[in-house]
Amino acid sequence: MEKQQKSSHVVLVMVTFQGHITPMLQLASILHSKGFSITIVHPELNSPNPSNHPKFTFISIPDKLTESQLSDKDAASPVWSLNKNCAAPLQQCLEKILHSLHHIAAVIYDTLMYCAQTITEDLGLLGIVLRTGSATTMLFYPAFSQLDEERIDFVYEIKSPELQALQLKRLRALLSQNATKAMTEVRVAFANVLKRSSAIIVNSMEFLELEALSKVKQYFPAPIITIGPLHKLAPAICSSLLTEDDKCISWLNKQAPKSVIYVSFASIVNIDNKQPFLWVVRPGMVRGSEWIESLPNGFKESVGERGCIVKWAPQKEVLAHAAVGGFWTHCGWNSTIESICEGVPMLCRPFFGDQHLNTSYICNVWKIGLELQNLERGNIERTIKRLMMDMEGNGIRNRAIDLKEKAAFYLMEEGSTSCSFNMLIKHILSVKE
Ligand code: UDP
Repeated sequence: MEKQQKSSHVVLVMVTFQGHITPMLQLASILHSKGFSITIVHPELNSPNPSNHPKFTFISIPDKLTESQLSDKDAASPVWSLNKNCAAPLQQCLEKILHSLHHIAAVIYDTLMYCAQTITEDLGLLGIVLRTGSATTMLFYPAFSQLDEERIDFVYEIKSPELQALQLKRLRALLSQNATKAMTEVRVAFANVLKRSSAIIVNSMEFLELEALSKVKQYFPAPIITIGPLHKLAPAICSSLLTEDDKCISWLNKQAPKSVIYVSFASIVNIDNKQPFLWVVRPGMVRGSEWIESLPNGFKESVGERGCIVKWAPQKEVLAHAAVGGFWTHCGWNSTIESICEGVPMLCRPFFGDQHLNTSYICNVWKIGLELQNLERGNIERTIKRLMMDMEGNGIRNRAIDLKEKAAFYLMEEGSTSCSFNMLIKHILSVKE
């Protein structure tokens, strides 16, 4: 990949939710290694610790988010408020940077910080958007926001097996149910940002969503640069908001190969009484509980050495561990990509938003997982066995290994990640001082 002179400065506008902090910091780290100077502008909420990233300059801007906005069940509500409250401070901040440096090569902003787009445009800067979810999610925004209902229908009419297996129409109907005012406004803003940015960076690998990507490319005029899997390109980045509990690794070291199911983000668990499990219960994850008080009395003691419960795990290390044979996941995009890269088959329990689309990819297109719709004890037990042990699940496990190998090849020098980075660097440097 190309190496730049230390003079080009890139400003990254980060949104400080866990699944967004990590890819943005990883991108920052890779751009820095290519010679760019990095400034990260972020809301006060969940401010990253600058001492963990001494090579970057961090600037915090006021977000005025209230507790009630943050705990709103409508996930779009804090995003909407964040953009409303951060627009003016972000503009001042970018003006100040521009004033002192005289040149910013590019402003890369998370889709969720869509207010950055207009500001960047008004200042005459090169604006690039980072999509931390899959590329396919982009097919939904114009349709959701009813910006271009007719043209977007062309996506659903295509008879390609991959797009049919995704069941986009069903997902669109599911995701359109009970859309709040904030949700609709945020989706319209996403669609506008994606249409107006000079380029779209996606943390994905082309082969994962080939057919959907070709549709996305027809719809959005900007170049789409798939630079994933970012976590493999910048593995040393420390980005967890919670402290990772390493004791689960020594516990995993004592388990048989591929015997453990790693459970993260599920709030209800019933597992066969012999199945070893590593379970992440984030403090506050169960509403009304600080941690695991709502588990039945004596549960933790009865589990003994068979299970390990932690508040936050070093997930990438856990998924790469030889003892882990399955991942019970909510199917966030980062978790999905991380699991793919380690060849771990998934038990899918999506909750909202793009998690449903990711589940559709995992179960219907890549066929490397099973969806858990019914949380009845016997069904959970049967599904875990099928995923991890039974002959019936052989195909799923083999395909998961095949996909891991494909991802490893994609990451090699002659694979596509390297080309994508060169494309991104060329794009950033295309605007001269
Ligand atoms: N994660 C982690 N330890 C945990 C649980 C999650 O490090 O115990 C990380 C995980 O590796 C991933 C991120 O948190 O990078 C979660 O992102 P994802 O997109 O999967 O879900 P979101 O949090 O956005 O719903």
